[in-house]
Amino acid sequence: MPTDWNARKMEAFDRALELFKGGKPFVDDLRTAARCELEAYRSSGFVEAVRVIAAGDSCPACRAMNGQILPLEEALASSPLPVHGCTHKMGRRTGWCRCTFVAVVPDP
Ligand SMILES: [Zn+2]
Repeated sequence: MPTDWNARKMEAFDRALELFKGGKPFVDDLRTAARCELEAYRSSGFVEAVRVIAAGDSCPACRAMNGQILPLEEALASSPLPVHGCTHKMGRRTGWCRCTFVAVVPDP
């Protein structure tokens, strides 16, 4: 059975969110969630690159990444999300990066 990357992504995301709420280190799990997204794109077979999309009210570090396009293999190698140095505030805590990857599909 093929790996269900979307299910893995949600597991990692939920784990990261619980850790974040508890004031514990969450970045590794949030990064795993982002990587599962990339793996899902890779397994689709037709995604060659991804674009980073930052939330509208994101921090300067994330805004600097917004719109950046990376070849899929490069994104998998460098794992740029969550953005290093993200200072987004959520509740009393900071660093919950909400940047996401979207697939860049070549023209037919
Ligand atoms: Zn940020």
